Amino acid sequence: MSTVGVLALQGDFSEHAAILTRLDAAVREVRLPADLEGLDCLIIPGGESTTITRLMAMYGLLEPLRAFAAHRPVWGTCAGMIVMAKHATDLDRETLGLMDISVVRNAFGRQVDSFETDLQIEEVPGGPFHAVFIRAPLIKDAGPNVKILAQIEGHGIVAARQGHLLATSFHPELTDDTRLHRYFLSFAAGMSGAK
Ligand code: GLN
Repeated sequence: MSTVGVLALQGDFSEHAAILTRLDAAVREVRLPADLEGLDCLIIPGGESTTITRLMAMYGLLEPLRAFAAHRPVWGTCAGMIVMAKHATDLDRETLGLMDISVVRNAFGRQVDSFETDLQIEEVPGGPFHAVFIRAPLIKDAGPNVKILAQIEGHGIVAARQGHLLATSFHPELTDDTRLHRYFLSFAAGMSGAK
């Protein structure tokens, strides 16, 4: 059984925790560097990236999270994607810079601040995934090591993977579909023994 951390500084960490519990994972809320000890993988939830990055710096989490991500799977959803990116527009604080992606915050504009759509996601079998977007970011540039998993026509990239690092613009924790959480847990299962 995996022990999954959920960064619990701000945002919808409890929704992620609820899905993980349904999948029989052991869940630990992460607020301080010591909370990372012994985790198999980590989820950075949606919320407000300005607040999350500010609190990460305040609690001394930047370097410990970077060290963790060097060897362990990390998945950022929505604001979490912004936190993982090398570059993010309109963000005056340091991100973790884990993934070679440039992200545009609030990329869908005011009139479609929130919407839902069915997405075909590579590496996630079983048909389209019903995706909930809430003031979502988009990936506008991705480096050569980044695999694009899903795009929205006319807009851009909304899911991508770089090795054991995953980023999604939308909120899989707000639906009943557990496929993306299971997909992410499979990264940790594939790396077990590497601890
Ligand atoms: N717009 C938010 C940000 O820039 C992200 C929104 C979300 O996580 N649902 O941080």
